[in-house]
Amino acid sequence: MTYEKLLQTLKQSQIIIDERHLHQVFEFANKAHAGQKRLSGEDYITHPLSVARILAQWKQPQIVIEAAILHDTVEDTHVTLSDIEKQFGSEIAFLVDGVSKVSQVKIKNKLKLTHIETLQKMFVAMAKDIRVIMIKLADRYHNLITLDALPEAKRKHIAHNTIEIYAPLAERLGMGKIKGELEDLSFPHVRPKSYSWVIKVAKEHFEIAEKITKDTIKELKKILSNNKLNTQINGRPKHKYSLYKKLTRKDINKDFSKIHDLIALRVITRNKTDCYTCLGLIHNHFKPVPHLGVSDFIAQPKPNGYQSIHTKVFDHHGRIIEIQIRSQIMHHQAEYGAAAHCLYSDIKNQQGIDQDKIDKTISYGNQNNNWLTELANWQNQINNPNEFIDNLKLDALCHRIYVYTPNGDVIDLPIDSTPVDFAFAIHGDLGFYIQAAKVDQKIVTLDRKLKSGDVVEIIKSKNRRHPSREWLRFVKTAKARSEIKKILAKIDQSS
Ligand code: MN
Repeated sequence: MTYEKLLQTLKQSQIIIDERHLHQVFEFANKAHAGQKRLSGEDYITHPLSVARILAQWKQPQIVIEAAILHDTVEDTHVTLSDIEKQFGSEIAFLVDGVSKVSQVKIKNKLKLTHIETLQKMFVAMAKDIRVIMIKLADRYHNLITLDALPEAKRKHIAHNTIEIYAPLAERLGMGKIKGELEDLSFPHVRPKSYSWVIKVAKEHFEIAEKITKDTIKELKKILSNNKLNTQINGRPKHKYSLYKKLTRKDINKDFSKIHDLIALRVITRNKTDCYTCLGLIHNHFKPVPHLGVSDFIAQPKPNGYQSIHTKVFDHHGRIIEIQIRSQIMHHQAEYGAAAHCLYSDIKNQQGIDQDKIDKTISYGNQNNNWLTELANWQNQINNPNEFIDNLKLDALCHRIYVYTPNGDVIDLPIDSTPVDFAFAIHGDLGFYIQAAKVDQKIVTLDRKLKSGDVVEIIKSKNRRHPSREWLRFVKTAKARSEIKKILAKIDQSS
């Protein structure tokens, strides 16, 4: 992987860049990592360059690409955050800092389900910005590709927490494509036997599905172009891990005849209206399957913002095929989710809605102007706090902090919480045995405001103690407050 290859990918993705600035960033990182090697023996700089290239493939703006090139400098070299800020400004420094913080999130080997969600929230809260999560996902993606250089236990651990934490996070953020790819890269390491089983048994089914898809695409093309609809039609094989999960579901019970989306047949239209016109034409030609029928996620988007119409129809041999219909913008959003949102708002902030620029950034094939109106609508929908963004709860998460117990469990607390809140959150009784508190192994005062990522330890007294009235001045959680008050009231009564 070289700087030239990154430039090539940026050009292919039609991302507008200031080449001089990008080159300065590259030189800076290259110098910082000089002499460092990866376990594979390659120069270290190939890693940040590869991460930047993955983000270029995901069509991220220049600032994200640059932060990716710098993402390991603060953690792994003599470079400091203020060096980066001086050289390249505070926004890039903010992104690099976010990536370093997220990288410090510790993930235990075996997690309870409730911890997985808390850990995901911690991730988002520490990242503070969706772009940081994008860089971290790309970082993880590249580490998975180069996993073979690592010893088995480490490989399994990385693959495992990708499936538990990173992939579901990508899904929550609506990044369907990235979620599927992360799972497929992890699958062979996490469940090698199941992986080879799926590959083996699915082979002939994929071959049949491919043939059916080819014929159907040909027919669809004819129908749609006869009706002057400008569309792109493609068939994409289902991701292996998601196929495995579906096959092992009780209602499917490894029966391939019950899986109709082995190859997802997609019709991508210019705009929303065309989606419904397509649906009409398709149903006019292929009979919809009774009961399985149509799901309209355009009228009712999924909670993560996913929009598309899914319909199951019979082909002329009586076989069931699933067709997904969506517009260009819905398609881009389905694959890149919140990341697509960043891209659009980045472009919008820079130059208002400038169609030319957006066209160059996201290629739409042949289009007319309707999609622009659609983009505006989509933005409005996203700005509506009850819809898409609400589900991400980025802001809400910034009012929470996530700290660790000494054995690595994550505790979710309101912002400005103290070791006393922490003690009561873990166990009501622990609050009455506080002798002292440590944060990151150093003794701190009990009114210390905790930060996300802190490791907090309560040093227990031998005997139960009365809480101090002072504590009421600084505790933040209702639980700590009420427990303390309860005891104090008892003491007052008895005295
Ligand atoms: Mn990295």
